This record gives sequence, structure tokens and C-alpha cells, in this order.
Amino acid sequence: MSDMPVLRVRDVRKRFGDHAALDGVNLDVHEGEVVTVIGPSGSGKSTLVRCVHQLESIDGGAMYLDGELLGYEMHRGHLRPLPDRKVAAQRGRMGMVFQQFNLFPHWSVLRNVIEAQVAVHGRRPEEAREEALRLLKRVGLAGKTDAHPRQLSGGQQQRVAIARALATQPRIMLFDEPTSALDPELVDEVLSVVLDLARGGMTMIIVTHEMSFAREVADRCVFMEEGRVVETGTPEEIFDNPASPRLQAFLSRFS
Ligand code: ADP
Ligand code: MG
Repeated sequence: MSDMPVLRVRDVRKRFGDHAALDGVNLDVHEGEVVTVIGPSGSGKSTLVRCVHQLESIDGGAMYLDGELLGYEMHRGHLRPLPDRKVAAQRGRMGMVFQQFNLFPHWSVLRNVIEAQVAVHGRRPEEAREEALRLLKRVGLAGKTDAHPRQLSGGQQQRVAIARALATQPRIMLFDEPTSALDPELVDEVLSVVLDLARGGMTMIIVTHEMSFAREVADRCVFMEEGRVVETGTPEEIFDNPASPRLQAFLSRFS
């Protein structure tokens, strides 16, 4: 692990109206580290990863990717918002996987994985195609390249979405409940792909309500409640020795 975290989140605040969805969140994620985020519904987990991916603006604090400030730049001694194309470039250095897979329905599986590489990263089409084929094989979909999303199960669609996110060689992968829209029998095929990425050294934040997975895959686990990080620790500390009564109460719902 190098000293500089891949991602640094410092005292980040986000309001929706007068509700504080994020109320001063701090989080560092180091190279190769897998951080899982657990917590009750409405605790700010999605807002956190959406802010990191710059799908939401923040109202306070700062975030850095490889030491570079996200979303803002210095201009004549003041911070000003980055122009859209620079935000897009920063976003392109992260991969995000949503609960709903968000594939383009009219494109083949292969094209879904090729497109961002060419459009956002200017990769040559032939090179993008090679990379897409390699990644689709990695997620177990080598035989589905010409299929359209509607012809696939939810688990297969989510694996395409993972391949698509990986195709731009992100510095960090962000997962927001990647299995919560899936039928129960399809959950494992997606989790095993995520686990494979973790073992391959990918840096990741994974929001999940699959508690046994959150424990198994994590180097570190973060418990959020009411827009705050209430507790953070190793999986053993979080799941076997929860310190705060709120985490104890949360975990008791799953046992
Ligand atoms: P979680 O992912 O932990 O369930 P969210 O991050 O989705 O929680 O939401 C945190 C809080 O922010 C909730 O109270 C939610 O209702 C609110 N919230 C999230 N997104 C929006 C939005 N776009 N507009 C208004 N309120 C929102
Ligand atoms: Mg959520």
C-alpha cells in the first residue's frame, strides 16, 4: 500500500432541502483495499458513492482521487467548479455499478462494453473490442457478446455492467447494492464476480445489504447511520465485536 489513498473523502456534507444526507463523512480507501459500506435504508450510502462519482454535488468538505481534488480547481486563489468535460474525465477514472444495471437496451452486450472506452477515453475501436471480449470472458459471458440486454437474466445484465465499468481501467470501482434488484437465485453469480475482482487487487467501495458478503469480501467495513460513519473496522471488529449500540442493533436484525 502506498501512503496516498486512491480515494480520500474529507468531512463531506450533502443536503437535500433541510435534510442532511451526508453529515461530515470521512473515508480513505487505499490501493487494493476493499471497503464495504453497510447501514440502514436512508443512512446515506448511495449518496456517498454518488457524490464520489460526481453524480451529486457536495455542499461541504472535499474529495480527492489520487490526490487530485474532485469537482473543483483553483482559479485566482479561489476554488471554482470544474467544467463538465473535466468532471467527465475524473468520472472516467472510476467505475460505477448501480442497482439497476443501466445498460443501453438497443445495443448488443459487446457494444455496451465497447462504447465508453471509445467515447470517453478515445481508445481505438479495435483495441476497445479486444478489451471488451477479454472482460466479458472474465465475467463469464463470452458466449453472449451479440445478445441484447433484454435477452439476458438480471444477473447476466449486471455482469455486463461490471465488465463495462472495468473496461475503462478505473482506479476505483464503486458498487451501489449491485444485487438488490436481482432474484435471489441470481445473487451469487454477481457476488462471485465481485469477489474475484477483490482477490485480483481491485480497489473498491461496495455498498451492500448482503451481510455475509460484506464480511467476506472486505478488508475494512464501514457502518453508516443518519449520514455519518458511526463505526469502521475490520470485518471481525464490525461483525463480531460491534462497539456502538446502533451497530449492535442493526446487526441483530440479520441474525
Ligand atoms: P441509502 O442508500 O443508505 O438507503 P440514500 O443515500 O439513498 O440512503 O439517502 C439518504 C437520505 O437522503 C434519505 O433520507 C433519502 O431520502 C435522501 N435522498 C437521497 N436522494 C435524494 C434526492 N435526490 N432528493 C431528496 N432526498 C434524497
Ligand atoms: Mg441506497
